[in-house]
Amino acid sequence: MKKKIKWTVLFLALVLLAAGIIATWKNSHYLYIFGEYLGVNCNKVEVNTSSPENMKKIKLNELRTDDRVKFDQSLMLINKEHPLQDDFVPSLSEYKDTDVQLNKCLNQAYGELSEAVYEKTGSELFVSSSYRTQEEQQELYEEDPSTANIPGTSEHQSGLGLDVYVQYYAGFGFIKTDAGQFINSRCWEYGFIIRYPSYGKAKTDMKYEPWHIRYVGKPHAKVIYNNHLTLEEYIESLKNGVWYKVDNALISRQKADENGRLSLPDSFKSAVISPDNTGSYIITITGD
Ligand SMILES: [Zn+2]
Repeated sequence: MKKKIKWTVLFLALVLLAAGIIATWKNSHYLYIFGEYLGVNCNKVEVNTSSPENMKKIKLNELRTDDRVKFDQSLMLINKEHPLQDDFVPSLSEYKDTDVQLNKCLNQAYGELSEAVYEKTGSELFVSSSYRTQEEQQELYEEDPSTANIPGTSEHQSGLGLDVYVQYYAGFGFIKTDAGQFINSRCWEYGFIIRYPSYGKAKTDMKYEPWHIRYVGKPHAKVIYNNHLTLEEYIESLKNGVWYKVDNALISRQKADENGRLSLPDSFKSAVISPDNTGSYIITITGD
C-alpha cells in the first residue's frame, strides 16, 4: 500500500514538472521561433505561369526614359556567390530627417512598416545599422569575421538590408518582443522579408537573424514568406523568360537579348525593373 502511494506521488510530481516546462516554454519566444521554423503562420501563395499577349521587345535605354517604368535595386541577390560588382553604386536616400541612409526603393515602405509596428505593438522601431560603405564593412569584418560578412557580400552595402530593434531588445532579444514577432511574421505585407530565416541556413549559409530585414517589394515578399523560401530559392525558381502571375502582379526574370532588349506586354501601365545581380533583370508589372 505504502509503495503505491509513493509511486502516485512520484507520478503527480512528474506531471506537475512536465506541465511547468510546457507552460514556461509556451510563454517564451522559443515556441514562436519553432512555429516560424515550421511555417505555421504561412498561407501558401499560388504562383502560376502566364502568357501575356502582344509582347514587345524594348531596349533598356528606352525603358529607362519610359514614364511607366521605375528602375530600382530591390531584387538584387547579394551573397558570397553573388558579391556586389566593383562598379556598383547604391541608390541611397536619407530616411526622414534622421542620419539613416537607406536604399531609395524602401524609404517609403520602411516608414509604413515602422508606423504599423507602433500602431500594433506600441513600440518604436529603431535602425541600428543600415547602409555601410565598403570601408565600414571591411572594418567590421576585421573586428569579427564570425559576425560580419566579407566586404562585397553584405546587403548593408546596398542599403537594402536593415538591422532593426526596439528599446532594450536588440539582436536575438528582438524576437522576444511583440514588435519582433510582428516584424518576423508580417513585414512581408510591407514588402520586406527576414533575409536569414530560421529555416534558411542551408541556402543562405547564414544563421537566423530575426533583426535583419530586407526590402524586395510586395508581391515578391508575399511569395517568399508564405511559401517558406529564401531569396536565393525564390530567384532560382523564376525561370528566365517565363512570366508568372501573383495576385494582380506579373513577374518575369529575363536576360537582355543581344540588342539589349527586354520583352514586355505592349500595353503595360506601370513596371518596376531591377537587376538581380546574377546577370538578369526582374520585371514586376503592377496595376491593370
Ligand atoms: Zn544586418
